[in-house]
Parts: sequence; structure tokens; C-alpha cells
Amino acid sequence: DLLDVADAEKPRLLLMGLRRSGKSSIERVVFHKMSPNETLFVESTTKIEKDDIISFIDFQIWDFPGQLDFFDPAFDSEMIFGQCGALVFVIDAQDDYLEALQRLYMTVTRAHKVNPNISFEVFIHKVDGLSDDHKIETQRDIHQRISDELSDAQLDNIHLSFYLTSIYDHSIYEAFSKVIQKLIPQLPTLENLLNILCSNSGIEKAFLFDVLSKIYIATDSSPVDMQSYELCSDMIDVILDVSSIYGISDKDSPSSTSTPTSPTADGDAHALIRLNNGMVLYLREVNQHLALVCLLREDNFEKQGLIDYNFRCFREAILEVFELRRKGYSNGNGAADE
Ligand code: GDP
Repeated sequence: DLLDVADAEKPRLLLMGLRRSGKSSIERVVFHKMSPNETLFVESTTKIEKDDIISFIDFQIWDFPGQLDFFDPAFDSEMIFGQCGALVFVIDAQDDYLEALQRLYMTVTRAHKVNPNISFEVFIHKVDGLSDDHKIETQRDIHQRISDELSDAQLDNIHLSFYLTSIYDHSIYEAFSKVIQKLIPQLPTLENLLNILCSNSGIEKAFLFDVLSKIYIATDSSPVDMQSYELCSDMIDVILDVSSIYGISDKDSPSSTSTPTSPTADGDAHALIRLNNGMVLYLREVNQHLALVCLLREDNFEKQGLIDYNFRCFREAILEVFELRRKGYSNGNGAADE
């Protein structure tokens, strides 16, 4: 079946956790642009949901109901964990989390047995309600408890990563970015290309964003500070809003809808915002899914011709890197391009 072939090639991400931990909200906010407040009315997950994300990275979220029973014979762990790249386990930090930890332990040990290559990502979620001290204490406590349990069972080799997340700020995007980056085999190449671009163009910081989700799939190797990340990610929203209201988009023309991944159909959109601290935010579209957003000093931006030239080389290289991967399917709906 062609559809299965395409599905199998996608890095698969599982989202799990107890009921009401926030899974549906996370998915709605990050991948469907729902505003955090609206999630108050989201119906809780009651079945396994397979959500195909239409973006540059074709991954899936399988939203498991919290009450899922591993010992139910209908639960096919081979199938579920077998091809899964990352398992994201969501814990409600505003609630008593002992039961969630129990569940996490069971899930991790079970999944690891089926597939030792899964990366385990724990989202300590809803931390917007916690003080900074409380956040750190909660993370330490959760880390400690689960590590103790794993080492009691001589399973120290299972590695878990922890993130403090909330849908009310950028932390959920930051966490997802790190999770997704682990699933992108081309990451070192992308980082390298970004480093070259930055050093040749006088750019301080550059992010390669998946436009739809605002997940950054790569950045140059200078340290990420939250403030520049937020600036760059907010710029995407601003540009998307303005261009969807006032812009002429290729995507609207009927002729281009038949080839949604054609990288050269568009990719020329760019935008510039001068900040009041002598810095410039510069956005360039790589293709319809990806955009480069960079932060640089205004004096360096005087050489815009050079930057644009470097960007074009960068874009060509990026598209080449992904070319091989994209072969085989034509769009994010999983339809095979045969
Ligand atoms: P699910 O059962 O795991 O899918 O959980 P839901 O997505 O239905 O979320 C349960 C509740 O948690 C909803 O009322 C959400 O508004 C709330 N929620 C989700 N994420 C956050 C968060 O980051 N902070 C806060 N304060 N509440 C959240």
C-alpha cells in the first residue's frame, strides 16, 4: 500500500500522558495555531489520534488517551513503538504527578524493550502556574524519582530528557524544536550550513524555522538565548499575518496547488524589521514550509547584496540536503508520488 510506505518514512513522534495532562492542547496550539485560552474548551483525548502534520518535517502525533491499557491484547506495542522516533510524555506539573510517573515508567520500559532507539522526552507541563523555584524543584524531583526507579530495575541505560513547558509561552516550541531536531538526520549538515552563512554574512544568530509550527529545525552553533528566539519566532507570526492579509501569495493561485512541495515555485518572500537597539531582523523564505530568520547588526546589513547572495547559496544547499528525503511523496497528506 503506497500510503503505508510514505507513512513508514516519516519520523514518528508519539505524544502520551495521563488524561488532562495537556496533550490535545499542545497539539492544537503548536500545530493548529489555536490560541492557548481556547484550549480550555478542547475535548480531552479519548482515542488514539493520528494527526498528519503538513509541514516540512513530516511527522505524526499519536495522541494516546491517558487510560490506555498496555495489557489489553488489542494494544500492539510492536506497531506503535516499532517505528517511533521520539516518545513525548506529558506530565501535568500542577497536579499530583505520582500516578503519571508510574505511567511514565511503564511506558518507557515497555517502549524501550520494543525499540531501544526511541528517544524519551518528558514534558513537565503547565509550569506557567509555578514559581521559578518550584519549577526547578519539580523537575529535580521528577528526574530523581524516575531515575531511581529505572536504576532499581537495572535499566540505567534508558535515557530521558526533561523540559519545562507551557502552552502560554515559547517554552513548548523550544521543547518541540529540541525533540524534532533529534529526529532530523541532516541536522549536523544544516547547522554547518547555518554557521557558514552566519560567519560569511555578519549574522549574529540564525534560525531555520518550520513556518507552520514555528518549530526551529536548526540554528547556528552560537548559544540560543530565549529573547532572540522569541523575537525571531514572533517575526514569523507578524509576517504571516501581514502577508495573509495584504500579500499576494503563490499558494492562493490554483496553478500552484497541484505541486505543493515545489521548492522553486515560491521562496522569494522576505521581510525586514529594524529594531531600536541597532539590530535588524531579516526573514527569508526558503520554500513554502521553511523560513530563515536572522538577527544581525544594522551596520552589517548595509552589505545586503552580499547577504542575499549568501542566502541564495544557502537555500540551494538546504534544498539539496532535503531533496533525497522528500523523494517518494508529493505532499504532507502522505500520498505517495509515484
Ligand atoms: P489531554 O487530555 O491530555 O488531551 O489534555 P487537554 O489538552 O484536554 O488539557 C486539559 C486542560 O489543561 C485544558 O483545560 C487545558 O486548557 C489545560 N492546559 C493545557 N496545557 C496547559 C498549560 O500549558 N498551562 C495551563 N495552565 N493549562 C494547560
